[in-house]
Amino acid sequence: MPAATPCPQESRQAKRQRARRILAALLATYQDAKTELRHENPFQLLVATVLSAQSTDKGVNRVTPELFARWPTPGALAKARPEAVEGVIKTLGLFRTKARNLVALAQALVETYGGEVPPDPRELQKLPGVGWKTATVVAGAAFGVPGIAVDTHVSRVARRLCLSEAKSPPKIGRDLEALFPKSRWIFVHHAMVLHGRYVCTARKPKCARCPLAPHCPSYHSLVNTLAETGSTRASPSAGPTSSTSDSSQNT
Ligand code: SF4
Repeated sequence: MPAATPCPQESRQAKRQRARRILAALLATYQDAKTELRHENPFQLLVATVLSAQSTDKGVNRVTPELFARWPTPGALAKARPEAVEGVIKTLGLFRTKARNLVALAQALVETYGGEVPPDPRELQKLPGVGWKTATVVAGAAFGVPGIAVDTHVSRVARRLCLSEAKSPPKIGRDLEALFPKSRWIFVHHAMVLHGRYVCTARKPKCARCPLAPHCPSYHSLVNTLAETGSTRASPSAGPTSSTSDSSQNT
């Protein structure tokens, strides 16, 4: 994966202004950004998000229709045998651990939360298999609780844009939350996921047609690196345009 360029010295005010321009470009490009995990209620979103760890959204969407049909509620899933759940999700990474976690998670929802998904991310994190990222995603997408969850895409995009130089996802999230208005935190998460999945991809970022290129310190170094290695047809003159059509990096 091409490395992000060393970030230039930049005042706090200059970075905030750049973040405002980045937000405007994200809004223009991804105005309807939302999770690509198929779900119809908070419980289904929670289950799908737990399943998405080290798996693609497409892979998760392939198994959840049967999973939700067989165990449509926390009460039903709480009574499932983990081996039966394994059989449905076995195409996903870590499927044995995920199956055990899902059954335990459903049991905790029934025993502690009356069969409902709690909207508070701190409560969500007490559930088996639910960490900071999953809790922030579910609280935001299902209940509108503001937060910028950081997955592999958000982390890569934030670091290449020099909006954060941190390594830990919670720290990157805090850096981003300091730069964007709270009312846009959930949008920024979803837009950066889509941008990282389809444009600012890990191996071959499409810098030459990236709508954030005018505001990205990594633009020139990545275009030059990729041109030298011949790994993409970098053409800065083509100018940045948006694209969400390439699903080759849909992780
Ligand atoms: S120009 Fe766009 S695709 Fe290239 S590194 Fe920056 S954000 Fe990523």
